[in-house]
Amino acid sequence: MSQEGTTHPASMVTADNAVICQHCNSPIGAAARFCPTCYQEAGYPNVRAAKARDEVAALDQRYHSAKSDAETSGASSAFASFVTLTQSSSHVIVAAPPIVALALLRNTSNLYANYSQLVDSEARSPAEHDDDCLRLCVDARLFGSYHNKIKCGALALSDVGLLNYGRVFLKMKPKAISHRTSFLSENSYTFVGRLSSSTDPPPLGYLCSWSTRGKLAGAKLGEHITSRSTSEDWPQLLLTPGNSRSDDDFIEAHIFGPFDVNAIQSMHCHYDGASRADTLTLRAVEELSSALCP
Ligand SMILES: [Zn+2]
Repeated sequence: MSQEGTTHPASMVTADNAVICQHCNSPIGAAARFCPTCYQEAGYPNVRAAKARDEVAALDQRYHSAKSDAETSGASSAFASFVTLTQSSSHVIVAAPPIVALALLRNTSNLYANYSQLVDSEARSPAEHDDDCLRLCVDARLFGSYHNKIKCGALALSDVGLLNYGRVFLKMKPKAISHRTSFLSENSYTFVGRLSSSTDPPPLGYLCSWSTRGKLAGAKLGEHITSRSTSEDWPQLLLTPGNSRSDDDFIEAHIFGPFDVNAIQSMHCHYDGASRADTLTLRAVEELSSALCP
């Protein structure tokens, strides 16, 4: 059995991502996690979206096209190596500010909160107005009414994540998140930004669940693999940090629901360029995180 777990009896996903409740036969909307009639669980809506029939078929098509191109260019073996390693060994890294990582370590009751949750609970101020509006637009476009349940990370093959989001890279335990995580081929901002209008449906074939993340990586990155590529290239190919968020190139992970420190396998601190205050916090994070259970 995969780490994604069993398919829930109520999650018979159709092409349009609607489901029929297996307990009472009521329709369950794409954004709902529970049946509105009997409250039977229907599965995580982001994972259901990634497993929708047309989404899966479109990703299969993109993957086989990339695989065929690799065969034509003599990179078949390297392509297979990249896809296999990503499928078997990639994990999710959430990049967090030092103070956020420290809060998780100091109190096991603390949960990691996303931007919307912090703003809604008045635990932080909104970002600059234009950035705040854009962030809410992107989240709403992808997730609708469950957007505030989604925590973002990046798919990785090393311990290094995206510095533009925080200096502490939280390496998540697959057991804690694999069943509730879906992936988008790229940064959600750039993905939504390419839609020609806000009412356009997103193109199919750019989402996947945990069990097909190697396929998504192959479909996206196959064109960069040559016969001279080696396995040492794979971590950098899968996640390429840029100077700014818009320059980062990565596969975005969407984790449904909360997580605490027990969901984290390890923390990797990035000191270069840190302020004195951040450096002091990073030292505390490093010391406390050394006791994490892998
Ligand atoms: Zn029901």
